[in-house]
Amino acid sequence: MYRIGIGYDIHKLTTGRDLIIGGVKITHEKGLLGHSDADVLIHAIIDALLGALALADIGTLFPDTDPKYKNIDSTLLLKHVYELVKDKGYIIENIDSNIIAQQPKMMPYIPKMKEVLCEILSLDLTQVSIKAKTKEKLDAVGQELGIEANSVVLLKKLN
Ligand SMILES: [Zn+2]
Repeated sequence: MYRIGIGYDIHKLTTGRDLIIGGVKITHEKGLLGHSDADVLIHAIIDALLGALALADIGTLFPDTDPKYKNIDSTLLLKHVYELVKDKGYIIENIDSNIIAQQPKMMPYIPKMKEVLCEILSLDLTQVSIKAKTKEKLDAVGQELGIEANSVVLLKKLN
C-alpha cells in the first residue's frame, strides 16, 4: 500500500538569525524567524510525512509554546518523525520539494541539503528532489520578506 502526503511552510526573513534550509547553513544577511531554527524545507517535509500518515501537523506535534523546541535543530524533529513513519511500517519511496526564495540563490546548497536528507531518512540521492524557484519578485516572498517551501512524499508499506 502507498500513501501520499503534501507539506507547505513559510517563514519570515529577519536580521540577526542564521539562515538554515534543508539542514544547511546558508550565507545571507538575513535568516528565518521561528521558534525552532525555522528550517522551512524540513518543516514542509515533516508535514508531508505526517500528512501521508494522517497524523497531526508539525505545530501540534512540536508546539511553539514548548520551550523544549526553542531554536531546536529541525533535523532532530525530522528524525523523530521518521521514527513514526517506520513505527507505522512504512518506508519513504520518494520526496519532491520546492524552495521558493527570491534571494539568496539556493542552487549551490542543494547537493548538501540532499545529502543531509538522505542520511536522516535512509534514502539515496535518486529518491530526493529539491527544486529552487523564485517568485519573479511578485508577492511577499518575491519582495524578500520570507521564504516558502512545498513538499510531496510517497510512503510505501512494507509487507
Ligand atoms: Zn516552519
